[in-house]
Formats: sequence, structure tokens, C-alpha cells
Amino acid sequence: MGKGRAILQETIDKAKTVKAEAEAQAREVIDEANKGKGIAFSERIEILAQWILKSNHLVVFTGAGISTESGLPDFRGPDGIWTREKLGLPPPETIDWSDAQPNIAHQAIVELQNMGTMKYLISQNVDNLHLKSGIHPDLLAELHGNIYKARCGLCGFKCDAIPDINECPLCGGKLVSTLVNFGDRIPRKEWRDSEWHCRHCDLFIVVGSSLNVFAAAKLPQIAVNSGAKLVIINQERTYLDPFCHLRFTQSIGKVLPPVVERFKKLLEKYGELPTEEKRLNASKV
Ligand SMILES: [Zn+2]
Repeated sequence: MGKGRAILQETIDKAKTVKAEAEAQAREVIDEANKGKGIAFSERIEILAQWILKSNHLVVFTGAGISTESGLPDFRGPDGIWTREKLGLPPPETIDWSDAQPNIAHQAIVELQNMGTMKYLISQNVDNLHLKSGIHPDLLAELHGNIYKARCGLCGFKCDAIPDINECPLCGGKLVSTLVNFGDRIPRKEWRDSEWHCRHCDLFIVVGSSLNVFAAAKLPQIAVNSGAKLVIINQERTYLDPFCHLRFTQSIGKVLPPVVERFKKLLEKYGELPTEEKRLNASKV
């Protein structure tokens, strides 16, 4: 074996070890979260579908983990940007962001929106995939902005970012990127609306976030403190694992779509789909 190949092999082995360790850690977390309860995966799917059926105010919170199945890297996952950086590995291979398409987990959230069940979606993602999947802009807070959107610095008007156009069509103010950099504050409206929904929700589902980026990661805690049930679907551990009511460490695509399918079956059996009027009233802050 040549020296180059040996180094490569060593790097691959190292990455595999880290991945195995992360997976083992995740399994421990789930054992911890469901300690002694012996709750099987299929049973947890059923529990979550039942909770969604009973909820009056469901809020979903997403992080980079939901977009990995669309080909975009996350940060702390086994093959995440920061995990690889720590190992001295190059960034993970990724597709062109503009080619990324929403996946089945994004679609499952859209279904919950269209049935009037999900009242608000809070996302840390900047990849535009929620809007692309059909989430209504009024029901979405993009806490860290959106790489494809610009905002007027004077009147707050939001529009698609178009190269060379930097004047607000409403007031002539300067259009700036909506992206929120590390250390910058979350835009006031996004934070205010998210906080309101966290204080009023009775079920809060974290999807694909390790809850490491603050202030965003404070929101699920606000929901729990306000009496909501907390569900976390994430492969790595989070600081709120000890406080969550249901924990999944499987990939999001294996959890959310079957939960939504099961929820629809339960609705057919026990409930009616909310009318459009109810849906619109529920979306008002
Ligand atoms: Zn303006």
C-alpha cells in the first residue's frame, strides 16, 4: 500500500469511528429519554400521531438536519461541516443549493400545514426549501434569514434577492440580504412571532436540530416552560433531551412521513379536517 493510500485509509477509518461513536451516543440518548418505558419505534410513531390529533396548537421547529436528505450538509451530524472540520477533513460534498429540492420530510410538514394542524413553523435554515415546498410565508419564521431573499432596511419589505437590484420598490430604501450572521440578532418580527407561538403551543416538535445555536435554541425551552409537550427528532443529542416527552434518533424521513400518514388515518376515524375558515383563524397571531 502506498503512503498516500495509507493516509487516505486512516482518514476514512477515523471518520467511520466518529460516525459509529455518534450513533452509539444517539442510541444512549434515546434509552435515556425513554428510560424504563421500553417504547418501541412503531409505538412512538403512534404516540406522536395521537398527540398531533389531540393538539390545538402545533409548532414545528427545523434545523439543518431536515435538509440533509435533500443533499445539503448539516453541521454536527456524522458527516456534518463542523464534524469534518474537527477531523481535518474537507467539507462534505454538496450539490448546488439552487438545485436542492424539498424532500419527503418537508412535504410532510406542508401536509400538516394544509390540514390546518400546524399553526406555525420556525426554521433555522436559510436554504429556502420550506417556501419551495409550499409553506405559507405568514406561517414561517426564518430565524437566520434566507439566502434567496432580500429585505428593505427602511420599511422591512421582503422580496426575492435579484442581483443588481438594491432599491426597495415601495420606499426607495436600500435592499439588504436577510441572512443573519453568527452573533447578529434574530430579526425582531421573526423572534416576536416565534416567541408568541412558543408561549401558546401545546405540542412542539424539533426536527433535525441539535439545539446548539442560541438564541434560536431557547425557543423549545420557552414552549416546555409554557406547558407544551416536547418531541425531538434528531440523530445527535440535544441539551433538552432530559426534558423531552418523546425522542427519535432515526432519520427524519423515517419518522415524519409515517407519523403524518398515521395522523391522517386517525383523523378519518375520529375527527374532521378543520375548515378553511378555522385554518385561517388559527394562523392569526
Ligand atoms: Zn422599503
